[in-house]
This record gives sequence, C-alpha cells and structure tokens, in this order.
Amino acid sequence: MDYKIGDIVRTKKKHPCGSKLWEITRVGVDFKLKCQGCGHVVVLERPKALKAITKLEKRAESQEEKEN
Ligand SMILES: [Zn+2]
Repeated sequence: MDYKIGDIVRTKKKHPCGSKLWEITRVGVDFKLKCQGCGHVVVLERPKALKAITKLEKRAESQEEKEN
C-alpha cells in the first residue's frame, strides 16, 4: 500500500484517547501519524507503521478540509 500525506488510516491498537484514526503527516523512512482523537503525534519507522496500519480509511484529497 502506498500512503500519502493527508491520508487517514486506522491502526490495530487504539490510542489511549480512544481513537483508532490517524492522519499521515509525513512519509519516508519514518512515518509521522497524528491522532485524530487528541492530536498527539507519533513517529514510527516505516516497517512498524505499515504493520500498525490495518486500513486506509480515507484517501487524501487535494484542497479538502479535514472534517470532524
Ligand atoms: Zn489520541
């Protein structure tokens, strides 16, 4: 799966805040994910991130604002 900045993904484990949705804010050797529940940002090595992500929830669309 090829991920892009702005994609919303679902992870296996939920964040302590209860959310399982994350926005990808950086891709590359490391992935940066922003929790959609509380805004917490985590950095994961690419293999770990790819393992943690179970589903692409919403593909990033240009110029589209985030919805709550
Ligand atoms: Zn959170």
